[in-house]
Amino acid sequence: MKKIGFVGLGNMGFFMSKNLSLNDYTVNGYDINQNVFEKLKNFKVNQVSSLSKISQGNDIIITMLPNGSVVEEIWTTILKEIDSNTLIVDCSTIDIETSKKLHNLAKNMKIQSLDAPVSGGTIGAENGSLTFMVGGDVEAYERMVPLFQIMGNKSILCGNAGSGQATKMCNNLLLAITMSGLGEAMKLAKSQSLDMQKFFDVLSTSTGSCWALNNYSPIKGVGPISPADKEFKPGFSSQLMLKDLSLALTAAGQEKLNLSIGRKVLNNYKKLIENQEGHLDFSNIINYVD
Ligand code: NAD
Repeated sequence: MKKIGFVGLGNMGFFMSKNLSLNDYTVNGYDINQNVFEKLKNFKVNQVSSLSKISQGNDIIITMLPNGSVVEEIWTTILKEIDSNTLIVDCSTIDIETSKKLHNLAKNMKIQSLDAPVSGGTIGAENGSLTFMVGGDVEAYERMVPLFQIMGNKSILCGNAGSGQATKMCNNLLLAITMSGLGEAMKLAKSQSLDMQKFFDVLSTSTGSCWALNNYSPIKGVGPISPADKEFKPGFSSQLMLKDLSLALTAAGQEKLNLSIGRKVLNNYKKLIENQEGHLDFSNIINYVD
């Protein structure tokens, strides 16, 4: 039985580690928040008390953490004591620069590594239907495929180190824009006193259809259950979406691209966060479109 170290058991890591544990992997989990283990106690995810215990005795180590600086801190610590044949995989969404730096650190130690951010949200994590966008070499990718198949429906090796992160950044730029556009369309529909369920039924099979509408409607009681039905409890927090938009706009700036729509959407997320709503789901942006 393969042993998996899993660091970061939050909204996403909880389900991903749980799914691995249900498929005959031994999962050794680490998180600074002890509460996550209470929820995992009915599954075979062992609580590990320190990162050095994650470094040793695992075939593969996965990190699912909030941002690049946390991933850097954790990888630097793990790599100090890692077993020579362990593969280390970061599934968090982080900046390309940090991702490449960490790949290089691992490479210099002859440790295989991948960046493998995901799409599909907590629903995808729970159902094991995530899409993994992967950067790194083929040999490392093939080692990870059986785990990708448990946690997701699809994995694509996008290219060299950092390519997974580059792909993810473009995806989330588009997601933030489509969610904001959907918010505008729904506000307009409401202003016309349309029946919102009927509006959803039409739109979901029309040319305005998109993932945000079909899976994640920002209006309570309309469409499948989504954060809007739970007072916008995340899901995917606005704080994390602002991080992803900032990554996209920074990368665009380096290439002298303006991305005017993305910039407008980023400013709306900044307003939401100034209003102390960063902890709420990103679909709450419907209340900030004008
Ligand atoms: P989260 O905040 O719910 O989970 C992060 C976990 O990391 C928390 O449990 C936290 O306690 C833990 N953590 C933080 N610092 C730590 C440290 N130093 N050591 C150990 N554990 C630490 O975030 P999430 O929603 O699970 O997202 C994780 C990553 O996945 C992010 O990079 C996010 O952008 C990305 N992502 C999230 C979603 C989503 O829908 N939530 C979708 C796709 C990608």
